[in-house]
Amino acid sequence: MLKQVELTYSFNDLEPYIDELTMVTHYSKHHATYTANLNAAIEKNPELSQKSIEDIFIHLSEISDEALKTALRNNGGGYYNHNLYFSTLSPKGLRKPEGNLLKQIESDFGSFDDLKEKLNNAAATRFGSGWAWLSTDKSGRLSVSSSPNQDNPLIETRGEWTPILGIDVWEHAYYLKYKNLRLDYINALYSVLDWEQIANLYNKVKAS
Ligand code: MN
Repeated sequence: MLKQVELTYSFNDLEPYIDELTMVTHYSKHHATYTANLNAAIEKNPELSQKSIEDIFIHLSEISDEALKTALRNNGGGYYNHNLYFSTLSPKGLRKPEGNLLKQIESDFGSFDDLKEKLNNAAATRFGSGWAWLSTDKSGRLSVSSSPNQDNPLIETRGEWTPILGIDVWEHAYYLKYKNLRLDYINALYSVLDWEQIANLYNKVKAS
């Protein structure tokens, strides 16, 4: 049974950047539903219960049952992507990258501001629903991309890239507060992103 990541903060702790009603709805409804639907799909296909979600993504294209593949892609993506999203938010985190992650950002993008510009562009230009990502490969090289719907870099690269930061640009992530102003939401998100958590994920992928 896969579980939603436990929040280390309260639903109203990210105010005013992310409002309480958006957090409650996002975590308790949207994320909870993806997780329940994924667990239901796994329950019907017990051979999957031995595999990690990452492993399921990496081998997704080998699944011949199209309905199952779609369920794993949409609900598995929804489960995994939101676990990443919620675990990198914090009311009192490190607001800028430091140390080896900052060095790699400077080497791959120029500066933290250059990275933000790339991320914001990927997030703002993703048409419809989807995500913008900062990912790393096992050598530690970083890349920025975006995906439609609940896809992610693990699915798209078959495990070559692992996301360490995901910006949810589905309207459910921001519409209650920001309405159509997606870029205002993205800019506000930097005030609640915890770069210590992102660095922990980065170092974990690099060491794997
Ligand atoms: Mn979402």
